[in-house]
Amino acid sequence: MAAGAGRVMAAVERPQISTDNTTAGRRAVAAGDGGARAPAGAPAGAPSGAAAAAAAPRPGPAERLARMGLRRDWDFLLHLPLRYVDETRIVPIASLHAGLQAQVEGEIVHVQLAVHRRRQLLVRLRDDSAEIVLRWVHFYASQQAQLVAGRRVRALGQVRGGPLGLEMIHPQVRTLEGAAPLPERLTPVYPAAEGVSQTWLRRRIAKALVQTRIEDLLPEAVRRSLGLMELGAALQRLHEPPPLMDGHALEDHQRDAWRRLQFDELLAQQLALRQARARRRRIAARPLPGDGRLTGALLAALPFELTPDQRTVWTQIERDLAAATPMNRLLQGDVGSGKTIVAALAAARAIESGCQAALMAPTEILADQHYQRLARLLEPLGVTVTWLAGRARESVRRAALADIASGAAGLAIGTHALIQDAVRFARLGLAIVDEQHRFGVEQRLQLRQGEQPPHLLMLSATPIPRSLAMTYLADLDVSVIASLPPGRQAIRTKLISGSRRDEVLGAIRAEVAAGRQAYWVCPLVEENDEIEAMAAVRMVAQTRELLPELRVGLLHGQMSAAEKRTAMDEFAARRIDVLVATTVVEVGIDVPNASLMVIEHAQRFGLATLHQLRGRVGRGAAQSTCVLLFDEPLSEPARARLRVLYESSDGFEIARCDLRLRGPGEFLGARQWGLPLLRFADLERDAPLLDTVQSTADALLEQDAPAAAAIIERWYHGAAQFLGA
Ligand code: ADP
Ligand code: MG
Repeated sequence: MAAGAGRVMAAVERPQISTDNTTAGRRAVAAGDGGARAPAGAPAGAPSGAAAAAAAPRPGPAERLARMGLRRDWDFLLHLPLRYVDETRIVPIASLHAGLQAQVEGEIVHVQLAVHRRRQLLVRLRDDSAEIVLRWVHFYASQQAQLVAGRRVRALGQVRGGPLGLEMIHPQVRTLEGAAPLPERLTPVYPAAEGVSQTWLRRRIAKALVQTRIEDLLPEAVRRSLGLMELGAALQRLHEPPPLMDGHALEDHQRDAWRRLQFDELLAQQLALRQARARRRRIAARPLPGDGRLTGALLAALPFELTPDQRTVWTQIERDLAAATPMNRLLQGDVGSGKTIVAALAAARAIESGCQAALMAPTEILADQHYQRLARLLEPLGVTVTWLAGRARESVRRAALADIASGAAGLAIGTHALIQDAVRFARLGLAIVDEQHRFGVEQRLQLRQGEQPPHLLMLSATPIPRSLAMTYLADLDVSVIASLPPGRQAIRTKLISGSRRDEVLGAIRAEVAAGRQAYWVCPLVEENDEIEAMAAVRMVAQTRELLPELRVGLLHGQMSAAEKRTAMDEFAARRIDVLVATTVVEVGIDVPNASLMVIEHAQRFGLATLHQLRGRVGRGAAQSTCVLLFDEPLSEPARARLRVLYESSDGFEIARCDLRLRGPGEFLGARQWGLPLLRFADLERDAPLLDTVQSTADALLEQDAPAAAAIIERWYHGAAQFLGA
């Protein structure tokens, strides 16, 4: 997997600053470390001894570090602080106010073990100016033992108002032998994980700073013209802030030192993607010039003309296929924009050039639907279309494999069963991946294996905003179908509270009475097909009870391929009025007579999914409606998300909002694109940098290839071959 995949990690430190911090830290550990146990009993605000005891990571230190992406000195250098703690100053207790993070020094004048509802340790600390309460709700006997009246200590923490006046909860406390000198620099707080302490990280990073020659590989002229800080100086400043540095200024990601690292991160990404592209350009592929016979016959057989956008993208694809280097093209178009027919043309081109084509879809339902549509189009023209999916009967499967291996099958359609070992194509010229973002990089790489990798065409209805396309997709050529085929009506979207379900039943009855059909999508159950299927079964029973006069069908992911096909066929043939379904209907299903889409608990779904689901209607001539049923009370972010859908039917606009509301990480998932998430740069915020980054990458590759290679190595060390796959 790409470098940095393990870097989604938690900001955990000894829970020393405040209770708030502690909870946040724990939650982050659970999320970031595959549910690693939170350091619940960690020495909270332990007196100085505890810090020293945490000197080395506990079990399997190398593994823990590797999981964080920390192996070489450069990894540590690029492991940048989340924030800083100011231990350089001691402030008078009298000057404190709630909300301030501060360090005070004084004498313990009173220690009390309070036993209210729970055990608490209360310590009064006094300096020349005033007193403050230090409070612990979790503590060890060893800590308690150090907190004795008469002792001088330093306490560092967040100040807040408490029942006894100002207090610090779980401050970090150091006992003082004599007058220990204050540190000169701000103390960095790093992203850490259980078993990798702040103290250890600080030492290891300091060592890396000493023993690494930090060469600034960015040409001086470029650096100056962009007003960027020198790399070594930037790293030095972030890890070891100079005395008197303002912590807030240092945490500000718009500031000099951060700008430099953000620039380098984006540059490394661009360089790596260009390298991947260059590597691909050196690979030979079979040119597929075609003779136009099959593609011509297919075009002639279509009941419609291609739209201008479809014609344009088809020309782009034709040109790529005729070349001797493998095509790597993404065909983007909103749901219903007509990508499938373009894919069919590409397949026909491969076949008329004497090769085979494969079409891989993420779900069996979608693969099946493609199979039926394309077989109907291509078989009359003499093409053998075979079907291969996980659940096919063994005899059927064996026959399909034989056809694929002998070359008898012109087009093979299926799920990822197509990329299993047993599948051997006689002459695969083109691989088409539908809904490509649902496949992992490894799966796409597998398509590319063999001596002569096929041309690759990826289809996606999930539009990608420009800033993302420029970075994540730098190794792809992108074709866009921007406008829908003529005659489509806009879909009306309604947000309705779940308590008004009766109205929805009325709407379904009316739609069916008018000769049309409806989908009713069950609530999303995260990550669990089985429970989701059970919910669907329950819901179908309920719906039959509520709408006894209607014919209600069921479709969910746990049904066998045959059952799914039957359900879809029945629905397409109008023998079913209402199809109760899980999100398996999300992709590709095309039943033009369906004009009502009802989505239960809509707030649980992602925007992209809702947009896809909505796209299942509005495919025929009738006015279509999508009802988003939501539960009350609706949280503000959920409301904002649903509002986006209500206000826009433009997939690009929705994707942009999604990106803004959720961030690119969730939007695409690094795994799917074969890229580590950006750690320091932010595509939205740093979008203005992208043009410069790209021209710098081009110039650097041309003028100083070794420097470019070294930058890639610094940031990715060896993982770069997975990029852009
Ligand atoms: P996508 O895969 O992009 O979601 P499809 O390829 O399934 O879209 O096309 C959606 C519908 O539009 C299909 O019913 C298809 O037959 C129809 N269609 C495609 N291209 C055209 C066109 N140029 N004119 C009219 N209808 C079209
Ligand atoms: Mg489609």
